[in-house]
Amino acid sequence: LDHSTSTNILESFLYSKKKIGILGGGQLGLMLCQAATNWRLPIWIMDVSQDFPAGKMCDQFVEGNFKDYDDVMAFGRQVDILTIEIEHVNTDALIQLQKEGVIVHPAPQSLNIIKDKGLQKQFYKAHNIPTSPFGLYESKDELDAAIGNDIQIPFVIKYRTAGYDGKGVQIVRSGADMESVLDVPMMVEELVEIDKEISVIAAKNPSGQVVTFPVVEMEFHPTANLVEFLLCPSDISTEISKKADSLARQIITAMDINGLLAVEMFLTKKGDLLINEVAPRPHNSGHQTIEGNLTSQYEQHLRSNMDMPLGNTDILKPSVMINLLGAPGHTGDARYEGIDECTKMDNSFIHLYGKTTTKPFRKMGHATVIDDNLDEARRKAIFIKDNLIIKT
Ligand code: ADP
Repeated sequence: LDHSTSTNILESFLYSKKKIGILGGGQLGLMLCQAATNWRLPIWIMDVSQDFPAGKMCDQFVEGNFKDYDDVMAFGRQVDILTIEIEHVNTDALIQLQKEGVIVHPAPQSLNIIKDKGLQKQFYKAHNIPTSPFGLYESKDELDAAIGNDIQIPFVIKYRTAGYDGKGVQIVRSGADMESVLDVPMMVEELVEIDKEISVIAAKNPSGQVVTFPVVEMEFHPTANLVEFLLCPSDISTEISKKADSLARQIITAMDINGLLAVEMFLTKKGDLLINEVAPRPHNSGHQTIEGNLTSQYEQHLRSNMDMPLGNTDILKPSVMINLLGAPGHTGDARYEGIDECTKMDNSFIHLYGKTTTKPFRKMGHATVIDDNLDEARRKAIFIKDNLIIKT
């Protein structure tokens, strides 16, 4: 890696008692705090409740709503670098804070493109980045009128601004599926014949250094629409892997994102790579980097925000990651049945997010298993999935 770009950044940051602010106090914020403790970087977090995962892990917790202009302004004015762990934040405030001299990553202008699934797709089209064909519709009536003319069933609807964790995505396979379609602005795209879903997390610092993590493969839970297994490295050819890597580099550069950019892609049955969507923050598909790679995505995010040289992302051992989801039928105070049995296994690492209330399919934690043999890692991950039951 080229380390010639920066000098004494960390030393002077620590000496001048600068602070990093994060909008959002969920599990991604929690793991950013964990990474920051190695250097004792002062982390301030803003979210609506200190009971959230990162609330008690940071140096200073500030109660506020990251969607609210005044709250973000008041918080941002108290920190030196401001970043995010969720993209649905008030970008008008971020633009104003930038004008006032606060360092904001990612750039609020790029965040505005990413937050709107329609603008995101238009960005890919304008930059010749491969993605599935799409159209934008303002209302359900407009979409109804287009069916049979501009577009054919089946297709996929993504509400332009509301989506998170699969809730904003709807697959229309028949006319009957149209009944539950919301009457809001939407992006409608071709239903892709997916062979594999893969992700590349890229990082860029303000000096322009770009470093990517190796390609990971995501397997989805059939009903919860959440990642069930994450496998690293992905079982794809070197050629596809190189293509995926260079697409991620192309996008982070074109969007001029400083910090992390998780790039989710579809490998189609025909062998093409299409960009699904991106997230400018730590991502579920990078949890396994904590134990599986030399530098974790969380440390990399902090390094890139501070304009430090980026860390080496090489894989230490292949890894399998599973999300630990709340068991169906249980809502209330969480118990972690079977956790002792699971922690007895070598090379299995359990992370609990400290959410007091469990709900069906709520992300309550994750587990990473590392092993030279990916099948063995998968076997242990399945054991954890079947034996660690999060219930009331
Ligand atoms: P979210 O923002 O909720 O994560 P995504 O855009 O990632 O939504 O979509 C969630 C999942 O839905 C994807 O991981 C994929 O399995 C499926 N999906 C999304 N878009 C398409 C598409 N065009 N064709 C086929 N499946 C899709």
